[in-house]
Amino acid sequence: MGLKTFKGGVHPKDEKFRTNKVSVTPHIAAEEVIIPLRQHIGAPCKPIVKEGDTVLMGQKIGEQTSFISAPVHASVSGTVVAIRPYPHPGGGEEMSVFIQNDGLDTLSKDINAWNLEMVPSKVKAYIQALQPKEIVEKVKEAGITGMGGAAFPTHVKLTPPPETPIDTVLINGAECEPYLTSDHRQMLENTQKVIVGALMIAKAVSANKIIIAIENNKPDAVAAMQQICQDYEMTEVAVLKTKYPQGSEKQLIQATTKRQVPSGGLPAAVGVIVNNIDTCIAVANAVVRNMPLIERVVTISGDAVKKPANMSVRIGVKFSELFEAAGGFIEEPKKIVMGGPMMGIAQTNIDVPVIKGTSGILAFKQPPTYGKEEGSCIKCSKCVQVCPMRLMPNYLSVFSQKKNIDKLKEYHIMDCMECGCCSFICPQRRFMVQHIKAGKALVKQKG
Ligand code: SF4
Ligand code: SF4
Repeated sequence: MGLKTFKGGVHPKDEKFRTNKVSVTPHIAAEEVIIPLRQHIGAPCKPIVKEGDTVLMGQKIGEQTSFISAPVHASVSGTVVAIRPYPHPGGGEEMSVFIQNDGLDTLSKDINAWNLEMVPSKVKAYIQALQPKEIVEKVKEAGITGMGGAAFPTHVKLTPPPETPIDTVLINGAECEPYLTSDHRQMLENTQKVIVGALMIAKAVSANKIIIAIENNKPDAVAAMQQICQDYEMTEVAVLKTKYPQGSEKQLIQATTKRQVPSGGLPAAVGVIVNNIDTCIAVANAVVRNMPLIERVVTISGDAVKKPANMSVRIGVKFSELFEAAGGFIEEPKKIVMGGPMMGIAQTNIDVPVIKGTSGILAFKQPPTYGKEEGSCIKCSKCVQVCPMRLMPNYLSVFSQKKNIDKLKEYHIMDCMECGCCSFICPQRRFMVQHIKAGKALVKQKG
């Protein structure tokens, strides 16, 4: 059978060899963690602790103020030493809670030990006894968000409107961004928890099918997940062609279910919800242990890093501490990115904290376009051929530069997912995504 995929896309060098064989190691948080009150799409939290308060690990410190939001929790035990604005890896500053770490990791009283025996009959009976509402409530209380980057609150995904029933839970193990391997390692090292979390998500939305989608550059992860899926009737593994951006939601849904999410629509419109690997593990921990999302696996890589690694990291630890734990830099990096090199966010300050959506932090000696001038469009149409959304990036970039709002709308600029394929392929090194982002801002502002 042919490998599943989508139309368009590009093949950047994946560079995963730097960390894909390296087991996840725990990182010990330093003296202070800085926890932003906004780490998700939606409204920021309001602090429910004050300077001088003692907090326990896993204790809620920021409460959600609207449905589309997610609470935040202390990732260490210690003392709140400040609540003030601080630079955020998503850009700008956010109100943040500074906790002085007492080094004891004293757990909040309501967090239990893992007490679910990982044999299929026990897991099935446990999940059968759960109520969907109970799962959603625990996920909400645990502050779980998507952990692949966008950080959309998971309890909102698990509450689809009645007019869009969900039949399929898609677990995104594609990890198509170069360098990143945290999901890969989690599929190998936490295989059972991935499945347990996926089954809980399916129960929450009454879906009857779970597809775990993995690119074929991770054969060991495919084998591990296929093995465990034999024990759970409603689960299957879809092996995908390795191609960027295979892991973006619409492309993943198209490749695995042949369903087309309508322009401007959500996956729920075609009966699907998509969750990532780490999110499944967080859901399992929240339901079984009442454990909030206070830790995640981060890939620390890039050609400027001495010892690239995957580390299990507390939320709020500074990037600089992680680079240091990875042996420091071979030479001063010219570019630092949070996330992958294609869609990640460039950083100018390495003292920003890890947040729930930090899948990786990368440091490069030279970014691919470093020092190159942007040229004019030579109408080669390569960007059109690779655009996974079937847009005309060449026109969009020019209309944006000319501030032609009517044309930007006519050419569906808002459907662009900023995947960067057009920038990657352009022989003139045109700053396509920057132009398109500026065009979108113009449409939002004046359109
Ligand atoms: S790839 Fe670059 S040069 Fe070619 S059509 Fe697109 S924008 Fe123009
Ligand atoms: S136009 Fe948008 S969706 Fe299309 S290739 Fe460029 S960044 Fe990706």
